[in-house]
Amino acid sequence: MSTSIDFPTGAARFPQRCVRCAASADTTIAVECTSGIDLVVFKYWRWHDFPLPCCSPCKSRRRWAGVLFHILGLLAVCGVFCGMCELEPLFTRMGQRDLWLWLILGTTAGSLYLCRNWLTPVLDAAFLGVRGVRLTKTGIGTLKFRDRDFAIESESLSKEGDQPHT
Ligand SMILES: [Zn+2]
Repeated sequence: MSTSIDFPTGAARFPQRCVRCAASADTTIAVECTSGIDLVVFKYWRWHDFPLPCCSPCKSRRRWAGVLFHILGLLAVCGVFCGMCELEPLFTRMGQRDLWLWLILGTTAGSLYLCRNWLTPVLDAAFLGVRGVRLTKTGIGTLKFRDRDFAIESESLSKEGDQPHT
Protein backbone atom coordinates (compact mmCIF):
# COMPACT_ATOMS: atom_id res chain seq x y z
CA MET A 1 0.00 0.00 0.00
CA SER A 2 1.42 3.33 -0.99
CA THR A 3 0.41 6.68 0.42
CA SER A 4 -0.18 9.85 -1.62
CA ILE A 5 0.49 13.22 -0.01
CA ASP A 6 -0.11 16.71 -1.42
CA PHE A 7 2.68 19.25 -0.82
CA PRO A 8 2.67 22.99 -1.50
CA THR A 9 5.76 23.29 -3.74
CA GLY A 10 7.30 26.01 -1.57
CA ALA A 11 6.73 24.35 1.80
CA ALA A 12 7.63 20.67 1.48
CA ARG A 13 9.70 19.25 4.38
CA PHE A 14 10.95 15.71 4.75
CA PRO A 15 12.46 13.61 7.55
CA GLN A 16 16.27 13.48 7.34
CA ARG A 17 16.59 9.83 6.39
CA CYS A 18 16.87 8.05 3.08
CA VAL A 19 13.45 7.87 1.43
CA ARG A 20 14.24 4.40 0.16
CA CYS A 21 16.23 2.52 2.81
CA ALA A 22 15.84 4.76 5.91
CA ALA A 23 19.62 5.05 6.40
CA SER A 24 20.75 8.52 7.46
CA ALA A 25 20.53 10.83 4.46
CA ASP A 26 23.77 12.43 3.23
CA THR A 27 22.36 13.92 0.03
CA THR A 28 19.11 14.65 -1.79
CA ILE A 29 17.63 13.42 -5.02
CA ALA A 30 15.16 15.34 -7.16
CA VAL A 31 11.79 13.70 -7.67
CA GLU A 32 9.71 15.63 -10.15
CA CYS A 33 6.00 16.31 -10.23
CA THR A 34 4.79 17.33 -13.63
CA SER A 35 1.69 18.46 -15.35
CA GLY A 36 1.06 18.94 -19.01
CA ILE A 37 1.84 16.97 -22.06
CA ASP A 38 5.00 16.30 -24.02
CA LEU A 39 4.30 15.07 -27.54
CA VAL A 40 7.95 15.51 -28.61
CA VAL A 41 7.01 18.19 -31.18
CA PHE A 42 4.36 19.90 -29.09
CA LYS A 43 5.07 20.62 -25.48
CA TYR A 44 3.06 22.11 -22.67
CA TRP A 45 4.93 21.27 -19.56
CA ARG A 46 5.33 22.44 -15.99
CA TRP A 47 7.25 20.67 -13.32
CA HIS A 48 8.60 20.99 -9.82
CA ASP A 49 11.52 19.04 -8.38
CA PHE A 50 11.14 17.95 -4.76
CA PRO A 51 14.55 17.36 -3.14
CA LEU A 52 14.01 14.08 -1.25
CA PRO A 53 16.58 13.05 1.40
CA CYS A 54 18.56 10.08 0.18
CA CYS A 55 21.76 8.13 0.96
CA SER A 56 24.57 8.06 -1.59
CA PRO A 57 24.26 4.35 -2.51
CA CYS A 58 20.51 4.69 -3.23
CA LYS A 59 21.12 7.85 -5.22
CA SER A 60 23.78 6.31 -7.45
CA ARG A 61 21.64 3.18 -7.97
CA ARG A 62 18.78 5.40 -9.16
CA ARG A 63 21.11 7.34 -11.46
CA TRP A 64 22.56 4.22 -13.05
CA ALA A 65 19.10 2.77 -13.51
CA GLY A 66 18.10 6.03 -15.24
CA VAL A 67 21.03 5.85 -17.67
CA LEU A 68 20.54 2.16 -18.37
CA PHE A 69 16.78 2.30 -18.90
CA HIS A 70 16.95 5.42 -21.07
CA ILE A 71 19.44 3.62 -23.32
CA LEU A 72 17.16 0.56 -23.38
CA GLY A 73 14.21 2.85 -24.12
CA LEU A 74 16.01 4.43 -27.07
CA LEU A 75 16.97 0.97 -28.34
CA ALA A 76 13.32 -0.05 -28.08
CA VAL A 77 12.30 3.03 -30.10
CA CYS A 78 14.93 2.12 -32.73
CA GLY A 79 13.65 -1.46 -32.68
CA VAL A 80 10.08 -0.32 -33.31
CA PHE A 81 11.29 1.94 -36.12
CA CYS A 82 13.39 -0.81 -37.77
CA GLY A 83 10.58 -3.33 -37.37
CA MET A 84 8.20 -0.97 -39.13
CA CYS A 85 10.75 -0.40 -41.92
CA GLU A 86 10.86 -4.17 -42.49
CA LEU A 87 7.12 -4.11 -43.16
CA GLU A 88 7.43 -1.60 -46.01
CA PRO A 89 7.42 -4.19 -48.88
CA LEU A 90 4.33 -5.83 -47.41
CA PHE A 91 2.36 -2.58 -47.25
CA THR A 92 3.61 -1.56 -50.72
CA ARG A 93 2.33 -4.89 -52.13
CA MET A 94 -1.05 -4.21 -50.56
CA GLY A 95 -1.02 -0.74 -52.14
CA GLN A 96 -1.02 0.85 -48.66
CA ARG A 97 2.25 2.75 -48.66
CA ASP A 98 0.61 5.89 -47.23
CA LEU A 99 -0.84 3.90 -44.37
CA TRP A 100 2.63 2.47 -43.71
CA LEU A 101 4.12 5.99 -43.55
CA TRP A 102 1.48 7.05 -41.00
CA LEU A 103 2.03 3.90 -38.98
CA ILE A 104 5.78 4.37 -38.85
CA LEU A 105 5.34 7.98 -37.73
CA GLY A 106 2.72 7.02 -35.17
CA THR A 107 4.56 4.08 -33.61
CA THR A 108 7.89 5.92 -33.44
CA ALA A 109 6.34 9.05 -31.91
CA GLY A 110 4.28 6.87 -29.57
CA SER A 111 7.25 4.94 -28.23
CA LEU A 112 9.28 8.16 -27.85
CA TYR A 113 6.35 9.65 -25.95
CA LEU A 114 6.25 6.68 -23.58
CA CYS A 115 10.00 6.89 -22.99
CA ARG A 116 9.86 10.57 -22.14
CA ASN A 117 6.72 10.72 -20.03
CA TRP A 118 6.41 7.39 -18.41
CA LEU A 119 9.91 6.13 -17.64
CA THR A 120 10.94 8.62 -14.94
CA PRO A 121 8.06 8.02 -12.48
CA VAL A 122 8.30 4.26 -13.03
CA LEU A 123 12.02 4.29 -12.23
CA ASP A 124 11.49 6.60 -9.25
CA ALA A 125 8.88 4.22 -7.85
CA ALA A 126 11.02 1.14 -8.47
CA PHE A 127 14.36 2.48 -7.27
CA LEU A 128 13.37 5.12 -4.70
CA GLY A 129 9.98 4.00 -3.46
CA VAL A 130 8.48 7.41 -4.24
CA ARG A 131 7.19 9.04 -7.40
CA GLY A 132 5.61 12.27 -8.53
CA VAL A 133 1.94 11.93 -9.36
CA ARG A 134 0.82 15.36 -10.50
CA LEU A 135 1.26 19.08 -10.14
CA THR A 136 -1.73 21.40 -9.95
CA LYS A 137 -2.01 24.91 -11.39
CA THR A 138 -2.02 26.27 -7.83
CA GLY A 139 1.38 24.74 -7.09
CA ILE A 140 0.42 21.62 -5.17
CA GLY A 141 2.56 18.61 -5.99
CA THR A 142 1.43 15.09 -5.16
CA LEU A 143 4.00 12.47 -4.21
CA LYS A 144 3.24 8.80 -3.73
CA PHE A 145 5.33 7.00 -1.11
CA ARG A 146 5.80 3.29 -0.58
CA ASP A 147 6.90 3.96 3.02
CA ARG A 148 3.75 5.09 4.82
CA ASP A 149 5.62 6.38 7.90
CA PHE A 150 7.88 8.53 5.75
CA ALA A 151 4.79 9.92 3.99
CA ILE A 152 2.93 10.76 7.21
CA GLU A 153 6.02 12.34 8.81
CA SER A 154 6.66 14.43 5.70
CA GLU A 155 3.09 15.65 5.73
CA SER A 156 3.20 16.80 9.35
CA LEU A 157 6.69 18.36 8.96
CA SER A 158 5.43 20.33 5.94
CA LYS A 159 2.39 21.53 7.87
CA GLU A 160 4.59 22.69 10.77
CA GLY A 161 6.81 24.50 8.24
CA ASP A 162 3.73 26.41 7.09
CA GLN A 163 3.09 27.97 10.50
CA PRO A 164 4.33 31.56 10.81
CA HIS A 165 7.25 31.80 13.26
CA THR A 166 6.68 34.06 16.22
ZN1 LIG B 1 19.26 4.67 0.97
